[in-house]
This record gives sequence, structure tokens and C-alpha cells, in this order.
Amino acid sequence: MQEICSLSLESLKAWLESNGEKSFRAQQIYDWIYTKDASAFEEMTNLGKELRQKLAASLRYPTLKLVRTQESEDGETIKFLWELADGKRVESVLIMSAARRTVCVSCQVGCPARCAFCASGKEGLMRNLSAGEIVEQVLHINRFLKQRGERVCHIVFMGMGEPMENYEAVLDAIQIFNDPNSFQISQRRITVSTVGVVEGIDRLAKEDLSVNLVLSLHAPNQHLRKKIIPYARKYPLEEILMAMERYARETKRDITYEYTLLAEINDQAEHAEELANLLRGKQCTVNLIPYNPVDGLKLRRPAKEAIEEFRNILMDAKINTTWRYTKGKDIAAACGQLALQK
Ligand code: SF4
Repeated sequence: MQEICSLSLESLKAWLESNGEKSFRAQQIYDWIYTKDASAFEEMTNLGKELRQKLAASLRYPTLKLVRTQESEDGETIKFLWELADGKRVESVLIMSAARRTVCVSCQVGCPARCAFCASGKEGLMRNLSAGEIVEQVLHINRFLKQRGERVCHIVFMGMGEPMENYEAVLDAIQIFNDPNSFQISQRRITVSTVGVVEGIDRLAKEDLSVNLVLSLHAPNQHLRKKIIPYARKYPLEEILMAMERYARETKRDITYEYTLLAEINDQAEHAEELANLLRGKQCTVNLIPYNPVDGLKLRRPAKEAIEEFRNILMDAKINTTWRYTKGKDIAAACGQLALQK
């Protein structure tokens, strides 16, 4: 059964018309879901009983069940564990930084990329999420925030899964997040992160969107990258970087390269120098992320001095470099720590 939250306003209008209903009802249904916080079709009292029954018989809502939340010690990060209709589980993370409320969403159960440092990819891909299952993660967290007089204002596709391998659902979800009748989140506040699926990057560049694109780079050359991201074997690094440049040109958006620093694997000065040569003169930012420990993986975070040396080499080469302060480490909600829950 299709989920109501998978439908854009236009798709819902088309669904209503094809079911013998007036298309203006779509606006009312959107209002109940995204503004009035209805949790079932029966609550939508300005719709006739017959329409409510028709909706309930044909479209699923809601689809996510909250299993538990975990809050970090500093109170700035909350991890939400959801159960899907088929019993599988995914996580989302709410990151509260000053006035900014960001939700990191999952787009797949598991992940096909199997990055060496990541809990999400340990068991490979189990299935794609539907657009509705992605949208509902934000819907429920937004309702949680509304009780505090706050709302979600940024979305990052950096939870479990590779967005380019669930392209249609991710695109539909972006359009619903951006809709003035639902979340009204500007495209410039939506970020898609990829390990580098070239055809996906090129396709996104042609969508007439202005979302931010992040490449999980993690290595300065193809040889090392293949070890850290097994999926990278499918796409040579040079081709991925060219696709990223095309994306920046087409969309006029800056691009970001994320680099998870793993002790004695990709954190040495020679790696920083190679990375500086690779990106010299490009309009981009490198975001360094010291590795967050994952149970069962024998990887280590580099010492602070090594991280600083790496960063200084990039900065000396005039490469815009940030060092991401990791939030939610104590509840395993930091980058790469979201795991499949049994
Ligand atoms: S880091 Fe991202 S792309 Fe890599 S396995 Fe984890 S979820 Fe997948």
C-alpha cells in the first residue's frame, strides 16, 4: 500500500481526481498532516466520511512507529529509532546547534556502500525506504519540536543509506520538504551526501534544484579509496570529481568533500599533501571528521596533533577546510555510527 506522505501535493491532487474526488481536497489533507498534526485519516473532520474511508483503505498513514529516543549528555543531539511497517528499523538524528534544528535522515535500511568505518553499511543493503518513510522521519521530529515552539529548518541525507541508490524516493522527499504547504524548507538548507555515484550526481545537476551536494571522499587517491569504500571500485575518483565540478557549475552551489580521518590509514601528512594537490584551485570545502568509534571495528581516531597537522597542510594550500565538531558521540548518533537495530 502506498503511503500518503510519499505523495507530493500535485500527486495527491491527481490521486483524488482519479478516485472521483475534488482536487482541492489535497490542500486540506496536507493541512491536516503537516500543520494540524493529525495522526489518522479519521481526524480529518472537514473531509466526508466516505472520503476518509477511501483514503484509509488505499493509503497508509502513519508508517513509522517510534521505538525509542536517546539524548546525548549535552542535550544537543537526539537519536530516534523507528520501526517500519515490515518490522525493519532505521534511525534519524536531530542535531540542535544554536537556533538551527537539523534532521539527519536515513534513506535506506542498511547501505550498499559498506564503508569500512561505518556501522550502517556493515550488513549491506536490506531495502530502500519509500519517500513517505523518509518524509515521516522529519514529520514526527518536527511535531516533537513544535511542542518546544521550534521547527526543523535543515535536512541532511547523511543517515543510513546512499541517496543516489534510492534516487526517486529521495527526490520526491526533497520536493515534499520544500513544499510551502508542508515543511517549507528551502532547498539551500537541504544537503545530499553521496559516496560518488556518477550518474546520480549528473542527474541531480539537471533537476533544477539547488540542494547542497557532499561527496564522502575519505581518501586522496583511488587505490586507498577502494579500501575504505568498497563501492568506490565502480567509479574512478577522477570521474567522480569531474561530476562534482559539473554539479557545482550547473547549480551554482558550492560543494563539500567529507574526509573521515582514520588513524594510520588516511591521516598522514603525505595524504594531506596528495589531497591538497587533488583539490587545489577548486571551489570547494573539505570537512574533516575525526573517526567516531563503532563497536566491532578495529579502527582508531587519530591523535589531535595529527588532525591539526592534516588540517594545516590543507589550509596552507588555500583549501577551505572545516573540522566538524562531532555531536552525539555518546549515543552513537555521530557520523557513521547509525547501526541496523535488531
Ligand atoms: S558512510 Fe554512508 S555511504 Fe558509507 S556505508 Fe555508511 S551510510 Fe553508507
